[in-house]
Amino acid sequence: MRHVNELRWDPLSREWIIVAGHRSKRPWREKDSTEKCPFCPGAPEIGSRSDWKVIVLPNKYPALIPNPPEPSIVSSKLMKPSKAQGICEVVIETPSHEGDFDILPLGHVVEYINTLVNEQIKLLKKPFIKYVAIFKNKGREIGVSLTHPHSQIYGLPFIPKKILDEYESFKTYYKEHGICLLCDIVREEIATKKHIIYENKYFIILFPFYAKWPYEIHVYSKKHISSLTQLNIEERTHLADTIRVVVSIYNNLFEKEKEIPYIMVFHQKPPEANDNYFHLHLEFYQPYRDKDKKKYAAGIELGFGVFTHDLDPREEIVKLRETCKRATSFLDEVLGKCY
Ligand code: ZN
Ligand code: ZN
Ligand code: FE
Repeated sequence: MRHVNELRWDPLSREWIIVAGHRSKRPWREKDSTEKCPFCPGAPEIGSRSDWKVIVLPNKYPALIPNPPEPSIVSSKLMKPSKAQGICEVVIETPSHEGDFDILPLGHVVEYINTLVNEQIKLLKKPFIKYVAIFKNKGREIGVSLTHPHSQIYGLPFIPKKILDEYESFKTYYKEHGICLLCDIVREEIATKKHIIYENKYFIILFPFYAKWPYEIHVYSKKHISSLTQLNIEERTHLADTIRVVVSIYNNLFEKEKEIPYIMVFHQKPPEANDNYFHLHLEFYQPYRDKDKKKYAAGIELGFGVFTHDLDPREEIVKLRETCKRATSFLDEVLGKCY
């Protein structure tokens, strides 16, 4: 029996679900697996190339494919399937098997951003791609069995609900106040310095007032920019700087140089949307409240969409700022300053 690979519409929450039955065959790598890493130089996936810093590969177990099968059932009034048409890619961030952005030179992380931008432009040329979702999952605790540093790109055939919700907030705020919501937040945060952790010429790193996860971190551009493709090379360099700083903060948050799992997402405007109604930002989530205490998204979070933030944000900002100072001292090059 062929596995089901299709989109299914949830009319209650008004969002698409990607059904990808074949992904159950995805291998889970044991920690001490002797299996060769597929992302290391010399692996068949990579080929004989050795002259690379960042490389993009097709996802071996894609949730979406360019030529998907027809949906498993005929659409009815309430059961609406659609083709799982899209492109899933993996971005290998470095040839070296260990480490993270904080040990890569700044120029290397700029190359990573350049790769994302080029890939996004390429994917948006496909008529079936409506949104490019860029993210990184790191750590076995959140289900990532491949330790080789990598990010992912999903060329989606729809705009994700979270992005649509944010877009509505931006649009409403703009109509009411005549200014972009995040431009206004950045202005207030720079004036009050209440939640800023770090600032360089073009970006701020923030522990937002509305953090859901423990030590959640956001990166906001100071200038109104709605998509990665609008960043010039100087701005990309400063964005790379903030990514290095955030990752170094996380890697030094609880114990010196102990890596913690995290998620990084790029929130950009829907491609066709009005530039005024979205402001580019990065969000970082990690599950730890303390060295060995984890926050789980459970009943109230998953069942009701209500987050409980189980820490005192006033203490978190102090810890994040202290960690920023320590974390940046480990970096070979820093373009801004901690608060
Ligand atoms: Zn590797
Ligand atoms: Zn803005
Ligand atoms: Fe967002």
